[in-house]
Amino acid sequence: MTVTASDVVQRRELKTPIPGPRSQALAERRASVVAAGVSSTMPVYAARAHGGVIEDVDGNTLIDLGSGIAVTTVGSSDPRVVEHVQQQVADITHTCFMISPYEGYVAVAEKLAELTPGDHAKKSALFNSGAEAVENAVKIARYATGRQAVVAVDHAYHGRTNLTMALTAKAMPYKKGFGPFASDVYRVPTSYPFRDPAGMTGEEAAQRAITMAEKAVGADQIAAFIVEPIQGEGGFIVPAPGFLRTIADWCTANGIVFVADEVQSGFARTGEWFAVDHEGVVPDLVTTAKGIAGGLPLSAVTGRAEIMDAVHAGGLGGTYGGNPVACAAALGAIETMEQDGLLGRAKHIEEIATAKLREISAKTPAIGDVRGRGGMLAIEIVKPGTTEPDAALTGAVAKRCHEQGVVILTCGTFGNVIRLLPPLVISDDLLLEGLGVLADAFAELA
Ligand SMILES: *Cc1c(COP(=O)(O)O)cnc(C)c1O
Repeated sequence: MTVTASDVVQRRELKTPIPGPRSQALAERRASVVAAGVSSTMPVYAARAHGGVIEDVDGNTLIDLGSGIAVTTVGSSDPRVVEHVQQQVADITHTCFMISPYEGYVAVAEKLAELTPGDHAKKSALFNSGAEAVENAVKIARYATGRQAVVAVDHAYHGRTNLTMALTAKAMPYKKGFGPFASDVYRVPTSYPFRDPAGMTGEEAAQRAITMAEKAVGADQIAAFIVEPIQGEGGFIVPAPGFLRTIADWCTANGIVFVADEVQSGFARTGEWFAVDHEGVVPDLVTTAKGIAGGLPLSAVTGRAEIMDAVHAGGLGGTYGGNPVACAAALGAIETMEQDGLLGRAKHIEEIATAKLREISAKTPAIGDVRGRGGMLAIEIVKPGTTEPDAALTGAVAKRCHEQGVVILTCGTFGNVIRLLPPLVISDDLLLEGLGVLADAFAELA
């Protein structure tokens, strides 16, 4: 009998030091053939993954608090994803939707129309990566408005292609040495409650951004305003209530396409289908990727039919966009989110993990802030009593967790945020054990 991912035991067990001998051997092979610019957070090579556990090539089982950066929301190799993919890959691997279309693409677009915010007529175009979705959202917004400027915010992350690097705020490691960047991109302040002046409301933060956009560009020149409803790579920044709504209303009043980049925050991650749902905000366009397809590469732009339909036939697409196997995976993943109640699971994770993080924070003066929603939670690490970032301690704590068999990720413009993105199917016990390891790391190092 073959061993499958669903046989992976749901417990943390280290049989060798991290990394073990097989991982070290693979690291040596890698060093001579894989480009150095592609790096890995953990030195262990994965063999199988399922639920809340990654099993490495040495037989160590690690608690997964990262989901491959918010991708395996339904867990790696979710049974419904596996079933849909196996059936689809046996039927059609590829025809190209631009040549001879197939049902899966249409079915995914139907699901996107149903699940994304708002009850207006919606249409979608499918692509392969988050960056590609963002690029296309900008293309569509420019076409529909006849304008060129795009506004993004501080701490933004939108991808690694030329245009999305321009939209991304942080130089290292994403932009340094890769210019020149796409033009007509303007950056304005965001809402960052931990670092904004005390008491600043979401409306005030939005007005600060709007004033900058009006002065630096002019509202009538702006095609799109793009924002992550909870900022991901920039530090899991939850804007103050009212920020997103005020920006969205200003966009509507000025004929600007409001784009919510939900690539990281979407698809059940925060306890709602999309992070903007927490604020009741309805974007003109939504970009999705990461959690959409249980680990297969798929992304989408979904939005108001009249904006999406503005572009001439043939103006949007790509060879692989909406690949049938990726679409089948998305339908399987969405089925699991719906049938296994993963929105509720995300809310439950928020409850138990936030309680644990607050407990750790109470004992750790270096933890300046605990924040996030659902299964998208973070702590920001500072020099005690200040807001001065402590990236060194952050890195040391993460490394300690890795050595103890917990896959945990960092983020933030200042590199001082530890973020939690567990698969939403992880058990309470595993999650709390992982957070216990985090607590021990702080007790030892802070
Ligand atoms: C990861 C991410 C992207 C880029 O997605 P890729 O699939 O890596 O191209 C864009 N926007 C946000 C908010 C992301 O988190």
